[in-house]
Amino acid sequence: MGTVVVVGSINADLGIQVDRFPGPGETLNARGGTFSPGGKGANQALAAALHGAQVTMLGAVGDDAAAQEALGLLREAGVDLDQLAVQQGPTGIAVVCVDASGENQILVVPGANAAMGATAVEERADLVRSADVVVLQGEIPRDGIEAAARLAEGRVVLNLAPVVEVDPEVLRLADPLVVNEHEARLVHAQLQNSKDQGPEDEQELVRALSDQGCRSVVMTLGARGALVCRGQEVSSVESRRVEVVDTTGAGDAFVGVLAARLAEGNDLVEASRQAALVAADVVQRPGAQASYRPAWPSA
Ligand code: ADP
Repeated sequence: MGTVVVVGSINADLGIQVDRFPGPGETLNARGGTFSPGGKGANQALAAALHGAQVTMLGAVGDDAAAQEALGLLREAGVDLDQLAVQQGPTGIAVVCVDASGENQILVVPGANAAMGATAVEERADLVRSADVVVLQGEIPRDGIEAAARLAEGRVVLNLAPVVEVDPEVLRLADPLVVNEHEARLVHAQLQNSKDQGPEDEQELVRALSDQGCRSVVMTLGARGALVCRGQEVSSVESRRVEVVDTTGAGDAFVGVLAARLAEGNDLVEASRQAALVAADVVQRPGAQASYRPAWPSA
């Protein structure tokens, strides 16, 4: 069993359904609302744990009731939560408001996630160093991402979502960098230190990231699966055709399963293939973490 340490965000999400969005100063009754656990770090940790990895979550929650909502499924799945930081103040919160046409408005309160900077990561340096795979995203402070990537002695999976500015050296430590096409273009511009979002062609785009020093790149392509690039060699990972119910959290499921398979010793293409199999299953159920429970033979 491989060890995975996820250094990242933990949120309590509040999903609200409305007929229409309220105007300034207006109070409206919503159609309904539900709390659910979220945050890219927590989502990925759960997916990795449900797919066989021994997972430790390094992140921060507040000293509030929302923390229990945020951590419920991670605890159930056996993710090690002993090293979490507990901060005074709120747990990270995302309020996702969806109107009758499916349009959404999202408000994010970073809350305790803002405490996951370099100091908090360095206090847990031994854990980061000892992991077979360290998984990072863009929802904690930049210096926390950079510190974790530099401390890691195992493999770094960097899902730079959302894209934040990080030291180019850190982008080059990732093996792989996991991004969707939009994010790939922003990273390209960042590495070029220009507005150049890279070649139109998808294969050329991942090769361009590789040329700029990324050890490997996985670019996810929604229903079309993913491209995996190492050096100039690009492999295509197909997705299964499925009936889509809700794609929320599919990218995080992909990253979590990818990390679990890499920690077990699979090569990058095979790990990506397995990640795409699971992600195609996840989109057939509603919710993010709630859709991760395997109703499929384990990948
Ligand atoms: P993000 O939400 O981060 O932009 P993607 O939309 O690329 O990520 O989805 C991540 C992965 O989830 C894809 O690589 C694919 O494996 C799977 N996936 C997403 N949407 C679908 C879909 N409609 N059908 C099958 N698999 C999907």
